[in-house]
Amino acid sequence: MNGMKVVINQDICKSSGECIKVCPQKAISVKDGKTSIDYEKCDSDGICIPACPEGAITTVKSD
Ligand code: SF4
Repeated sequence: MNGMKVVINQDICKSSGECIKVCPQKAISVKDGKTSIDYEKCDSDGICIPACPEGAITTVKSD
């Protein structure tokens, strides 16, 4: 997914942590009830997208 950035919709995310289990880069974490992606680690493979039961993870174009 070149040129894509994986983003979490904070309005939809329930911080279930399902995405954390599948991320091979260990790029996702929950802190104070908010799930976030460490973009230094994320390689935009998109594995976390289908793992989210809420459908809160999507991609946006990035330069
Ligand atoms: S896109 Fe891949 S590397 Fe990035 S947070 Fe999701 S599972 Fe982890």
